[in-house]
Amino acid sequence: MAFKAPRGTHDIFSVSALAMSEVEKIAKEIFKRHGFEELRTPIFEDAGLFLRSIGEATDIVSKEMYVFEDKKGRKLALRPEGTAGIVRSFIENRFDLSIPAGKFFYSGEMFRYERPQAGRYRQFNQMGAEYFGNSSPSADAEIMVLASDILSAVGIKDISININSLGCPKCRPLFREALVKYFSSIKDLCVDCQTRLEKNPLRLLDCKIDSDKFTNVPRMTDYLCDGCKTDFNSVQNLLKAAKINFIIDDKLVRGLDYYNRTVFEIRSGALGSQDALAGGGRYDNLVKELGGQDTPAVGFAFGAERVMLAAEKSGFFEKLKERKKVFVAIADQELFEAAFAFSIELARSGKNIAVSGPINGKSLTSQLKFADKIKAAQTIVFAKTEFEKGKIIIKDMLQKTQKEIPLSGFEDL
Ligand code: AMP
Repeated sequence: MAFKAPRGTHDIFSVSALAMSEVEKIAKEIFKRHGFEELRTPIFEDAGLFLRSIGEATDIVSKEMYVFEDKKGRKLALRPEGTAGIVRSFIENRFDLSIPAGKFFYSGEMFRYERPQAGRYRQFNQMGAEYFGNSSPSADAEIMVLASDILSAVGIKDISININSLGCPKCRPLFREALVKYFSSIKDLCVDCQTRLEKNPLRLLDCKIDSDKFTNVPRMTDYLCDGCKTDFNSVQNLLKAAKINFIIDDKLVRGLDYYNRTVFEIRSGALGSQDALAGGGRYDNLVKELGGQDTPAVGFAFGAERVMLAAEKSGFFEKLKERKKVFVAIADQELFEAAFAFSIELARSGKNIAVSGPINGKSLTSQLKFADKIKAAQTIVFAKTEFEKGKIIIKDMLQKTQKEIPLSGFEDL
């Protein structure tokens, strides 16, 4: 029986692996430039952490988590997103006491038992940033600048940045009340919406099934208290100052419970139904709710696979250059050791090349065929006559030319 990768997972290789590394490199550089430091947390955590932070009524927690018991009966879950683990670490490592403002970024695999389709997987990669200890709208704006700058650095142009404010515990209950009243008057809500109406009425706003039935829905922006209104205006002014185009999206609520005030989502016109590239927002109450000091926070994450899909459509992959491949071959078997030593030295030289060979026990013709197959740009041939003169032969595999260079010289490679 041949094994297959589990449904909803995929292998990343060749130019996609190259693109993924490049996306990670670019994002890390941008995070670091803004003073964010890397924080790596475990791939699995206490399942309760996600229940408490993401929210029991959310799709992620109620339907999509990979939960399992370890041999001691501990209930654990593969992380479905990055924020909960970062907040847990922030509290556990007492960063909430020792640093006035913590800026962290992360990168890694997330797991959600979703129905797989293009751009939606059960294991996928996210990169994100979390900014603790700064309640100013400038932190919200900076987080959005990070997201937008990363996407433009990987060549994605066709995006829309949608923002909304979810208010605070003072003003959101009034909005919630207005929503319940409004939605209760709508007939034939879908099954999900009927349950959401009781547990989480905000989520009806982003229902894909019922959305056509919802006209003149109450808008959170009409219910914001003075503090939240001023805050939301400042976020918008700061985004304008940073030259970030955005649109206000009254229906944007996001699928996680912990958000307050600013939420945002970045979508790409180039992708199909799974068009969300990145999302995030402010979550001022989560650190306290999980047992830490009262610490405001704002963050975001982007899905690396979706960013790659959009980047590929923007021509980013064509700019990626594979390392030049160099193959070391031997015309005479007795030179194998010398060629092997040369090959190792070449790899150690720090040149931006990929070295292969030599291969023992094969004719020169079949070695050259092999070099062609792996798309080597150059083949270095160790041949007795030249070697005795301290020389090696370099073959240009495309031009079909060759020349001799001194054994010690790597310059021409
Ligand atoms: P979320 O944590 O749901 O806010 O998602 C943040 C980003 O992660 C989204 O904008 C997507 O780019 C990506 N993402 C979320 N779920 C998936 C999935 N199942 N497969 C691939 N990417 C995903």
